[in-house]
Amino acid sequence: MDLGIAGRWALVCAASKGLGRASAAALAREGVNLVVNARDPDTLVDTAAWLRTLDPTIEVIAVPGDITTASVRETALAAAPQLDILVNNAGGPPPGDFRNWTAQDWQRAVNANMITPIELIKACVDDMAARGFGRVVNITSSSVKAPIEALGLSNGARAGLTGFVAGIARQARLASNNVTINNLLPGSFDTGRLRSNLASEAKGSGKSVEQTAEERQAKIPAGRFGDPDEFGALCAFLCSALAGYLTGQNVLLDGGAYPGTF
Ligand code: NAP
Repeated sequence: MDLGIAGRWALVCAASKGLGRASAAALAREGVNLVVNARDPDTLVDTAAWLRTLDPTIEVIAVPGDITTASVRETALAAAPQLDILVNNAGGPPPGDFRNWTAQDWQRAVNANMITPIELIKACVDDMAARGFGRVVNITSSSVKAPIEALGLSNGARAGLTGFVAGIARQARLASNNVTINNLLPGSFDTGRLRSNLASEAKGSGKSVEQTAEERQAKIPAGRFGDPDEFGALCAFLCSALAGYLTGQNVLLDGGAYPGTF
């Protein structure tokens, strides 16, 4: 299937590992030029070099730095000649007990997982509308639909972003000009983030990481964790020319783990 986006420009935030990297890879395979970002410059440069091998005709620009800061967002936005696609992503907040979280912990989580994507959306959607094409995908979490107790900072901050997106995605000024904004909700995907969450869960329960991982997979109807490439493929489809009528949605990708009908 040709997704019809070869030659477009995408900014993929937090893209040196995991779901962001897999999303950038799926776009690279479609011939999309990329601006990729992450904090550690060495890993980011390696990822950018690998992305170039997926399609030697594309340009890949690496912008290292913390995407939750205004100056890095400005540099990332300015790196492409124009932005047709924005994939919002950042590290998730740490797990814990809400009784121990300070106002500063909440501000950090809300800045990373709500304000940062909103600022990036604000900076590019009107230009996308003026050009008649734009795709925004926010990587959020299945915790938006089914809260995960220990990830209260994530549940709260991402719910705020979700409410905001539900409103603006439906602005006629954007939707009638072929600009779509959707959220992609990962369940359990086999990434560094998942492995570190499993390690902290194992430490708390006294079980091994392997046993903790097995028990978690047994609760997923698919019987396994997701492969980041499966996530990247759906992200690329949401960014495609074919997906112009899909906007304001929360697309859950979780191997059947969420038990509800809707
Ligand atoms: P990951 O494998 O740990 O990768 C995170 C990526 O984000 C890395 O490239 C990291 O590079 C970059 N990053 C983190 N904080 C950043 C920041 N402030 N600025 C720029 N780059 C940053 O994580 P993942 O599993 O792909 O998760 C991605 C997002 O999906 C997270 O928000 C996570 O909470 C959410 N999620 C994941 C799962 C899952 O099962 N994997 C499930 C639900 C939700 P640097 O460290 O070098 O910056």
